[in-house]
Amino acid sequence: MVTLPKELEYEFLLNRLYELLPEQAKAPARFEMPHAIVEIHGKSTLIKNAAQICQQLRRDMNHFFKFMTKELGTTGAIEGSAIRLKGRFGPATVQRKVEQYVKTFVLCPVCGKPDTHFIEMRGVRMLKCEACGAVSPIPEL
Ligand SMILES: [Zn+2]
Repeated sequence: MVTLPKELEYEFLLNRLYELLPEQAKAPARFEMPHAIVEIHGKSTLIKNAAQICQQLRRDMNHFFKFMTKELGTTGAIEGSAIRLKGRFGPATVQRKVEQYVKTFVLCPVCGKPDTHFIEMRGVRMLKCEACGAVSPIPEL
């Protein structure tokens, strides 16, 4: 048996332990940026999978809708599982806004994890992280 210096032994044990961990514990599910499916119909733009995006992000569709219309400076309507926006917006523009939404209202600014939800603190909406516990301010829409 080889004798290792104490600190090396410790590292060795840690590595060994790490190897024994189930795959799941090693690599937490990577966050997948939702991909907007966009169709331009005449003078309006349809985000076809809006409900699916919100489901994936665990966010209220009304909140997402409000963000999109405000950011794109337009109006629109929720139509079933889709969002219709007045005006023509290309897929890249819509996708950029989706990513901005995720960065602002989903990812924890402290640890970067997507496991968050909204809480109310003294009437102000905040972002609470389920992974690290941080509570962060978010803009009002
Ligand atoms: Zn966090």
